[in-house]
Amino acid sequence: MNTQDFIKIEEQYGAHNYHPLDVVIEKAEGVWVYDVDGNRYLDCLSAYSAVNQGHVHPEILKALLEQAKKVTLTSRAFRNDQLPLLYKELSEMTGYDMSLPMNSGAEAVETAIKLVRKWAYQVKKVPRHQAEIIVAGNNFHGRTVTIISFSTEPLYRDDFGPFTPGFVVVKYGDADAIEKAITPNTAAVMLEPIQGEAGVIIPPDGYLKKVADICKKNNVLLVADEIQTGLCRTGKLFAAHHEDVRPDVVVVGKALSGGFYPVSAVLADEPILGLFAPGEHGSTFGGNPLAAAVARASLRVLREEKLAERAEKMGEYFVEQLSEIPSPHIKEVRGKGLLIAVELKPEAGGARRFCETLKSRGILAKETHDNVIRFAPPLVIEKETIDWALPIIRETLNMP
Ligand SMILES: *Cc1c(COP(=O)(O)O)cnc(C)c1O
Repeated sequence: MNTQDFIKIEEQYGAHNYHPLDVVIEKAEGVWVYDVDGNRYLDCLSAYSAVNQGHVHPEILKALLEQAKKVTLTSRAFRNDQLPLLYKELSEMTGYDMSLPMNSGAEAVETAIKLVRKWAYQVKKVPRHQAEIIVAGNNFHGRTVTIISFSTEPLYRDDFGPFTPGFVVVKYGDADAIEKAITPNTAAVMLEPIQGEAGVIIPPDGYLKKVADICKKNNVLLVADEIQTGLCRTGKLFAAHHEDVRPDVVVVGKALSGGFYPVSAVLADEPILGLFAPGEHGSTFGGNPLAAAVARASLRVLREEKLAERAEKMGEYFVEQLSEIPSPHIKEVRGKGLLIAVELKPEAGGARRFCETLKSRGILAKETHDNVIRFAPPLVIEKETIDWALPIIRETLNMP
């Protein structure tokens, strides 16, 4: 079967909730993926930053295989010998007292929402069921009904109401707007330190720091959704660290498993995360031994291969080189670490056609919204590989 055969089957039998590039991947290694027709591509999406460690990292694969032979799922009705070690290693690596494991990113965001609401009622003494959470315009936190309830993207919302109340949306990048939106019932402010899905939107310098100060002053928790920006992608363990901010609650996912398996978690200190009581929250697969073993190996790879430093160094070089590309289509190149965007001018005819051409030339990148091409390769990328890609990107961005 070739590419077209697979696509035909997929289109007939699968729901059409994605618009993928027409490449059918059958294997991958490091920064490279291979399609069923034998073509090789540089992966510049990394599954939305889930494969920061590179595809099929041998150390994570080993952990997965070894654990899969022993025990994969116990449920949390019983304990297992991997989860305690994941808790401890996450705590040592991030500096938070505790964590709560889930599977998808959206589930971890839901968990954070429940957590800050509980904190509001138990600690801040907000009247029951009156808690408010302040979020930012153009946010992306996942796809559940509660999460899309505070999305500002019509595509994510239309036809899916009624929505969950309790959210206040303010403009991203404007700390004063947050201060103005705070009421006695505000439980938390939840933000992405950089908005990935919105098109790699980097807020003004000092924004997160200012928001953190406002939260502290007003007895409001700061929740950082670091599902995409965290775990070394932007050149630090968490993107919040660029401004020396320590959010009260951090949500991680994606690269927590190096792309092998859905693993997510909420991190916080004991006075907050310790509020959950048995039975109040859970997940059959959350914290299972296979997930915990994979996550432990994924974290170890981030540390041992110093991937934060690599992301910083390679990202700086990649952005600098992209910025030097003379092209009539480019409006702006921006990025932090290896989370990089090339924003095209509105008259460029959309980012999709450039992504299609990049694909035909051996580079997989995906458009976000209409005019942004995201470049976010695995953090293990070498300078030589960036140098291989640059002429192709340069030529493509100079198409008529
Ligand atoms: C991907 C993402 C999510 C959702 O994660 P899923 O695993 O797809 O549910 C939430 N927040 C951010 C910032 C993300 O990038």
